[in-house]
Amino acid sequence: MSGPRVPSRRSSAYAWLVTAPLALFGFTCFVISLRADERWHQAWLGGVVLLIGAVLANVTVTHIVIGRQSYNMVITEIPLVLGLYFVPPASFIAAMTAAALVTNVRSMESTKLWFNVARQAASSSAALVVIALLPDITGPGPTTWVILFFAVMTSVVVSHVAVAGVIALVQSRHAGRQALTAGMPTLAIAAINIIIGLVFLIAIEANRWAVVLLAALVLAMILVFRSFAGIFRQHRTLTEVYELTVALRDETGTGGLPDVLLGRVRTLMRSEFATLWLPVQGRHPEVLLTSRVDDNAALFDISPTPSVLRDRVMETGRAVSVGSEFDETADLRDLLRAKRLRDIVAVPLRSGQITIGTLEVVNRLGSYTTFRDADVQVLETIAAHVAGAVENSRLVDRLRYDAYHDRLTALPNRRRIIDALAESVTVRAEDEVVAILLFDVDGQRNVNESMGHAAGDKLLVEVAERIRGIADSGALVGRIGGDEFVVTLRTASIEATIELATQMRERLRGPMAVGTLTLDVDTAVGVSVYPDHGSDPETLLQRAELAANAAKVLPYGVQPFHPALESRAVRRLGIAADLRRAIDNDQLEVYFQPKVTLADRHVLGVECLARWVHPAHGEVAPEDFVAVAEHTGQLARLTEVVLTAGLRHCKAWADADRPLSIAVNLSARTLLDSRFPDLVQELLEEHRVEPGQVTFEISEPGMLSDIERVLPTLYRLRDLGVRLSVDDFGTGASSLGYLRQWPVHEVKIDDTFVQGMATDSGDLAIVRAIVSLAREFGLTVVAEGVESELTLELLEEMGCEIGQGYLFSRPLPFERLEAWLSAQTEPESTPTGEVRRLRAVI
Ligand code: C2E
Ligand code: CA
Ligand code: CA
Repeated sequence: MSGPRVPSRRSSAYAWLVTAPLALFGFTCFVISLRADERWHQAWLGGVVLLIGAVLANVTVTHIVIGRQSYNMVITEIPLVLGLYFVPPASFIAAMTAAALVTNVRSMESTKLWFNVARQAASSSAALVVIALLPDITGPGPTTWVILFFAVMTSVVVSHVAVAGVIALVQSRHAGRQALTAGMPTLAIAAINIIIGLVFLIAIEANRWAVVLLAALVLAMILVFRSFAGIFRQHRTLTEVYELTVALRDETGTGGLPDVLLGRVRTLMRSEFATLWLPVQGRHPEVLLTSRVDDNAALFDISPTPSVLRDRVMETGRAVSVGSEFDETADLRDLLRAKRLRDIVAVPLRSGQITIGTLEVVNRLGSYTTFRDADVQVLETIAAHVAGAVENSRLVDRLRYDAYHDRLTALPNRRRIIDALAESVTVRAEDEVVAILLFDVDGQRNVNESMGHAAGDKLLVEVAERIRGIADSGALVGRIGGDEFVVTLRTASIEATIELATQMRERLRGPMAVGTLTLDVDTAVGVSVYPDHGSDPETLLQRAELAANAAKVLPYGVQPFHPALESRAVRRLGIAADLRRAIDNDQLEVYFQPKVTLADRHVLGVECLARWVHPAHGEVAPEDFVAVAEHTGQLARLTEVVLTAGLRHCKAWADADRPLSIAVNLSARTLLDSRFPDLVQELLEEHRVEPGQVTFEISEPGMLSDIERVLPTLYRLRDLGVRLSVDDFGTGASSLGYLRQWPVHEVKIDDTFVQGMATDSGDLAIVRAIVSLAREFGLTVVAEGVESELTLELLEEMGCEIGQGYLFSRPLPFERLEAWLSAQTEPESTPTGEVRRLRAVI
């Protein structure tokens, strides 16, 4: 860190404004009183003894604390009393002034030193002035007591006012006033000292040998005071630290932690600056905050502490203190001096064994002292508590972060998205909508199942990266569930949103590297917008999810929400139990839809399609109850019902010598059941149906989603001799090349292309490509959804072999199929039996 700029304060040179008058006063008194000192040798001796006594008294400073303030307990009043009584005035001033010089010369810079010397000279002189004004002192009687008491008190007050004055000048008026009030209790201590001094005086007057006893007494008192001071200090630390921790606890939640912390530490340590520093840690940025005396409200993001010092704390994990009291860091003193700092204590903030930062105090305030070992201990105690609070607040931070972010991708999570949506709804402009684009990653579950969760996670992280990369800068990207990502932003309209969703989906597509493998990733996008699709964020998200589910089966993969999706989903929920009952009670019906050869209009077979009329809801769409069956473990029974019905009729048609093949739809999930081929074999045998008469149709997207695990079942079915068809071909992401690798016999072109081919050249091209490739691979091609003659013509022309659709017939219940067969077709004998040719050649 290069030289931080600390707000400057007034120069200490202002102190001379106080020092000079004090010195002048002291000097004048000294010169005047010189004439009074008549007996030189006695004056000289008294002066030396007083000097020694005063120096001793000065150095036995002890700190005690009363309330929030700490005080310097000095017993200087005792030599003062004795000096005033026994020593002639000029020697008295000289001795006291010299004592101040001797005591402070080592520890103070010159401005302060001279101030203290001048102050001592002036206050001593003031005492003499009081004595001169009052009646003469004669013997150690009560009059003397009163005179001395007033004289010494005057000296103490002058001294105090001088200190407050200089602080007011150099720091601020406020600080000066504080110093003045802080001095009041010292007056009481001074009074006690004066009384002790008077008792000494009486004892010495009675017998000079009393000096020996008194010296012993003073020594004992000093020792007692010292240990008391230790207790006081401990007490102070405990109380202060307790108050600090209470304050920290109260502030942790409100983000005011540093303010409270640093302000208090500064007051407690009586320092000019207090700094909290936490280096960068994970996603937490560096924290550097400084509180400075007199700038109570503000915190600065700079600090006067040289970084060397901080580094040393981090390295050693121990306190580093620099100042006149700390010899082990003498090497750093120059650095401090260069930065015009007096002393620094920096202690580590520890979390267990780790140092997570530092707490620093710079420049001890007040005139007498610098930081000492005891202060280091105090700061260390505080640091222990602060570290806890900091950890806690970081923990709180982290919890807060975690509560709103997804761990894997670090994207905002559902909760955060909901909050953000609520927010954008309120700031939306009239001509805008709040758009929600929900991306559902295709095949995520398969990656998890086949390659392990680690690979699945990697894929999600990769997808997250991509979405973040392509999203608008104004958009918020989040992950709201396993493989669901949300992009929310404000757009011009629903149409614009769909356009955007389509573009984003296109850009998201393509191979993604997951470990050593490259996967083709695709997404289905559900779209909902405020205000059209709901008023609250929850609803909007749910509806986007619904739409995304619907989008999975769409070739273009983007689906805006519409109400039909919802009623369908709601209905699905309620019908699971009803479906079970329907299957149990044989209430499912099977309809049949003819498959016709396009070249000669022979009816080859029928597709068996399940039908269910719900007692309350009426007819339920097969997509719905098939989905319900899938999710409630009833799929096997559903398939069995349809297959059994198909086989029964198939056998009957064969027995009647007019064979028709049957096609039964399978869900990919059925193919995951390894017992399914056995069931098929059993049923084939039971109904005595040729396996070649049975085709299983498996929807392409379903098949693709788990091809590795589906393939073994497909091979076993093929080995049974049944035929396999890829249903809804073109809606999945498989390339035509796959068809050659799969054990299938037939391709069913999805009706969306078939229906579109008459009007859409794109659809036409797709159908043409599928037909020609399938033929090349030797696969049968079936076009489903043939509704118009134009379509039929086109299909015929391109060589498609089989058609199915409303143009020939809707799916029909068995009796009506029979009626249709006899009405619409006429029998034609072939070597394999009778076939039905459509009567009206369309
Ligand atoms: P799918 O296998 O693609 O079935 C063809 C669907 O297209 C049938 O709808 C049929 O009624 C309809 N369709 C036939 N010709 C035309 C036409 O010319 N125009 C139009 N617009 N539609 C036509 P359905 O019966 O509603 O079946 C829907 C889907 O439900 C089926 O799609 C199939 O995936 C599933 N499904 C039906 N029955 C079963 C079943 O027994 N088991 C399984 N697993 N799925 C089934
Ligand atoms: Ca089908
Ligand atoms: Ca279809």
